[in-house]
Amino acid sequence: MAKVFQSACPLNCWDSCGFHVTVDGGKVIKVDGDPNHPITKGKICGRGRMLEKRTNSQNRLLYPLKKIDGEFKQISWEKALDEIAFHLKEIKEEYGPLAVLHSHDYANNGALKNLDQRFFNCFGGVTELKGSLCWGAGIEAQKWDFGDAYSHAPIDILNSKNIVIWGRNVARTNMHLYENLQLAKKNGAKLFVIDPIHNATAKIADQYISVKPGMDGLLAAGIIKEILRLKLEDSKFLNDHTLGFEEFLKLLNSISLEEISKKTEVTIEMITTLAYIFADRPTSIHMGLGMQRYKNGGNTIRLIDALAAVSGNIGISGGGANYANLQVGQSFSFSELTRSDAKEYHRQFTMMKQAEEILEAVNPEIKMIIVTCGNPLLQVPNSNLVKKAFSSVSKLVVIDHYMTDTAMLADYVLPAATSFEEEDIYYSSMYHHYVNYGPKLLEPPGEAKPDLWIWGQLANRLGFGEEFNYSRDEWLEMCIKHLEPFGITLAKLKQQNFIELPVEKIPWEGGHFKTPSGKYEFTSQLGQLKGDSGKLKLSLPEESKWNNPKLAKEFPYSLLTIHPLRSNHSQNYHLLPKEPSVKIEVAQNIAEELQLQEGERVRVWNNRGEIEGYLSILKQAHPNTINIDEGIWTRFGGSVNLLTSNGESDNGLGSILYDCLVNLEKIK
Ligand code: SF4
Repeated sequence: MAKVFQSACPLNCWDSCGFHVTVDGGKVIKVDGDPNHPITKGKICGRGRMLEKRTNSQNRLLYPLKKIDGEFKQISWEKALDEIAFHLKEIKEEYGPLAVLHSHDYANNGALKNLDQRFFNCFGGVTELKGSLCWGAGIEAQKWDFGDAYSHAPIDILNSKNIVIWGRNVARTNMHLYENLQLAKKNGAKLFVIDPIHNATAKIADQYISVKPGMDGLLAAGIIKEILRLKLEDSKFLNDHTLGFEEFLKLLNSISLEEISKKTEVTIEMITTLAYIFADRPTSIHMGLGMQRYKNGGNTIRLIDALAAVSGNIGISGGGANYANLQVGQSFSFSELTRSDAKEYHRQFTMMKQAEEILEAVNPEIKMIIVTCGNPLLQVPNSNLVKKAFSSVSKLVVIDHYMTDTAMLADYVLPAATSFEEEDIYYSSMYHHYVNYGPKLLEPPGEAKPDLWIWGQLANRLGFGEEFNYSRDEWLEMCIKHLEPFGITLAKLKQQNFIELPVEKIPWEGGHFKTPSGKYEFTSQLGQLKGDSGKLKLSLPEESKWNNPKLAKEFPYSLLTIHPLRSNHSQNYHLLPKEPSVKIEVAQNIAEELQLQEGERVRVWNNRGEIEGYLSILKQAHPNTINIDEGIWTRFGGSVNLLTSNGESDNGLGSILYDCLVNLEKIK
């Protein structure tokens, strides 16, 4: 008989929804929202619902596979684990543990997914990846400005007089914030959307402001200039709680509003209007995770933070420069879980440069790569180079649910359990501050196993099995240990299914910051400690006509690679009812100038690669803007990362995926 269980979404998403999962005859038959969840209230998106298909699909990996003479053959777990352990041991003895690279990403947000790090730390320490494909530059920026990256509690938006959604399509990526926007509007708040694309969120805005991609920081600087000219700044906050404002003023005086208007392609009248909106407190800013994916990305987020500070919207109810909420993840005890103290050796490659670093590594060379929770062949920029690097090692092991592009390249593919087939806890450090519990609801199909089982088995074979000799309850208790003084226990979490974490709901109230000076730092001391001047800059994207006119002449269009509507990154494309293909969305002016029609086959290219697809004309997008959704599998047309750069942002070793100029033509 069908039974409904409370559970949680494991996907790397803003919303971290509560689920009701219906199970019948040992199979998930439906995934729905849990109406009792205080934030997500029974509503979930199609990506979450598709976990039913992801769990049940006939194409799941069911057995360990080994590539023999270019073909995958089924082998037993015993043999697969013995051989992988043998290779790990042999490589460690001959070259040292750093000849192994661990490639990890965030396909599953379960807290116990971090136990892969415990395995590699206890192994002696392997080469790891540092930096971020996504939000890294912005996180670092907020650490420089505030001391950490914190957001207001979701409900506080109802205290905002004005709400600015900046570079974020919440209708697609954060549906519960979208609901709160509608509620806030009903209560009288005004909604403004700043974005190069008139997206679904812009449709409900009181005003939409179109900006040239990558120029958001400069736009923020223009708004600050107008706030100061109109004497609308919060002088008390600036005097009492900030450091380096005089230096910032000099920077602002070095550029005219006319020049800002020309570069951002936003009119001076609109910049003045925005100055009045920000000064009409409380105004909250809700930033997306795209604006930092430029060479100038960290500085962009810093200038938007500075706008919130100058306009007096920091530390007040209804305000905030909301980007991420790291205090959620900081509630858990990961150092004990991952045994970061156990590693003897240490080497890091950067996320963006990993392909070059794998190919060039010496002392030791990379001999083996183990991939967990990721699909680097599609998600890491400059895919051609990534493929070359991952093909160059003698042993590639991939743990996954499906035969992804990365798995196709592997020597061993190990079938993993999905989230409904193992117990874990889930949270998101992007939006709300509840931790959710996900029980084990069914057995994995075939011989698929939880990652944790795989690590324990390998650890046994390598002589440190005692490090994995804990029950699930013991692991979970280790994880939430520091929450016990707040009355949060595993028993309570299992009983209630979700618990509010003890975090600040209005960060920086009272003007106390986590920076070295304790103040909001326009000139960052942390930045200085890291070898930067710490000063704000008026920097622009690397690939722009202002920084590289020759390149811009050859490749006149700005390429964005936004998150798809129906897939969490690359995870769902193969499960969609209709076979996906590459859609190339272009601003109207491009279609007009090149005389292109909807649906025509076009080619997009630059010096790094090319991709083909069908044309879709965006009704309202900033001139010369193109978008291709990220994550598309090679068999469906290929990843847009064939075109993107593997350069690094100005801080935080973030990606510069959007700092990308391309050209486009019709395929004859
Ligand atoms: S993907 Fe995000 S919005 Fe969709 S169900 Fe999961 S947490 Fe909720």
